[in-house]
Amino acid sequence: MTFASRPVVIAGNWKMHKTAKEAVDFVNALAPKVAQSQASVFLAVPFTTIHPVVEALNGNSHITVGAQNMNDADEGAFTGEIAGKMLLEAGAKFVVLGHSERRHIFGETSAFINKKVKRALADGLKPIVCFGETLEEREAGNTHEVLKEQISVTLEGLTPDQVAQIIIAYEPVWAIGTGKTATPLEAQDAHDFCRRFIGAKWGDEIASQIVIQYGGSVKPDNAKSLMVQTDIDGLLVGGASLDVDTFSKIVNYQNM
Ligand code: PEP
Repeated sequence: MTFASRPVVIAGNWKMHKTAKEAVDFVNALAPKVAQSQASVFLAVPFTTIHPVVEALNGNSHITVGAQNMNDADEGAFTGEIAGKMLLEAGAKFVVLGHSERRHIFGETSAFINKKVKRALADGLKPIVCFGETLEEREAGNTHEVLKEQISVTLEGLTPDQVAQIIIAYEPVWAIGTGKTATPLEAQDAHDFCRRFIGAKWGDEIASQIVIQYGGSVKPDNAKSLMVQTDIDGLLVGGASLDVDTFSKIVNYQNM
């Protein structure tokens, strides 16, 4: 596949952490520390902190705020759920969909996530769509098959233009929150496979443009070795995105 220069996007996923006050304090401290970084910073924050954080950032173009989930419906009797248009109104620009915690704890299937991806795109939110194999699947030698199946179903029915708007996150389930990171070569192999598969389905031009992030126990000391891989265009960071100093070191990985 020909090399194309792609934007670098480093996203933090706060999961169910931080009150509005904690979130505002965090971004006020983070903004000056990442202002010189070549990476765009995305923060996937709890719903209640989207609006306060967007206000605190006051148009800062380096940090983009988003959500960690949404419903596939426009509105309706879905107690406890949130619609894309509500996220957009609060100031979110992107939404993480199909995170392994949504797939494995809350039972979300690729077919359901596919509906959410379509809704997010229709609403004008950029989806970060997550894929990844379990340890059992990797040990059985099925990593590529699992990725192929997840990508096919989760992105089913999307046009090349729609796929071009998506960020993909390769997140091996066994590496999320475990302290075990895929080696740079294991991650590169999975990213290369995803890019080639997307190329075969939606065309090489889309494949060469699409941003593919790696996620799974990213830390300041492994960020650079992952980021120098040809097909790793960014990082999706969970635990290490909760601390300003740690996260800013990852964003500024080039200085490490
Ligand atoms: C994540 O939540 O997407 C993630 C990769 O978590 P962690 O960095 O903590 O492994």
